[in-house]
Amino acid sequence: MKSLCDKLQTIGADILDSEKHAQRKQNSVQLLAVSKRHPAQVIRDAYACGQRIFGENYVQEMLEKAEALADLDIEWHFIGSLQSNKTRAVAETASWVHTVDRFKIAKRLSEQRPTHLPPLSICLQVNISAEASKSGVCVEDLPKLVAEISKLTNIRLRGLMVIPKAESDSSRQRKVFAKVRKLQEKLNTDNASQGLLLDTLSMGMSGDMHAAIAEGATIVRIGTAIFGAREIS
Ligand SMILES: *Cc1c(COP(=O)(O)O)cnc(C)c1O
Repeated sequence: MKSLCDKLQTIGADILDSEKHAQRKQNSVQLLAVSKRHPAQVIRDAYACGQRIFGENYVQEMLEKAEALADLDIEWHFIGSLQSNKTRAVAETASWVHTVDRFKIAKRLSEQRPTHLPPLSICLQVNISAEASKSGVCVEDLPKLVAEISKLTNIRLRGLMVIPKAESDSSRQRKVFAKVRKLQEKLNTDNASQGLLLDTLSMGMSGDMHAAIAEGATIVRIGTAIFGAREIS
């Protein structure tokens, strides 16, 4: 069986391959190791392999792990759906939140971010496939949300995040990711005079990582391919 370090190394090599294939700068894509529903010890093991950034979906679980692993220099990324009564804990613990889709949540995160910490980096989750059941801001509402959120002081708007509908055809995967990239480019162009520069595209999971990197992903979020099937229920 492949060791955890081997798996991380394999995915790291896959990312480098995809970067090269897309003629992108080497190491322009970060691997976010999604550790939800895996015990803290597994994160400690991955850390020993050199992994530093970890993604969690559930607030309570992230807090418990952050406490258990407080001796490590981990950067926590919150990637789950966030309710307003849980924003304080996230603002105090995470370095990034990928799933902001409402002004109310962003405002609370900004107000609750401790001032001794750097601004919280956030991405806006975009409902790109316009599925009624999915979370994320719809494309039409995005410019207004960006304008409002840019004014907040203790968070830094970094870019967009998507979880597209599962799609096995790689050219169709690319189409969706290209749409997100163009959205981001337009936001940057339209808001350049206000000093806005979005530099992050959080897109790509195990099945569509290559397509996402080809279209400009800067963070890919990978869980199962690193840690195997999830344990904690
Ligand atoms: C769970 C999750 C992932 C990782 O999914 P895997 O299938 O385990 O690789 C990535 N992004 C988000 C938002 C997730 O919730």
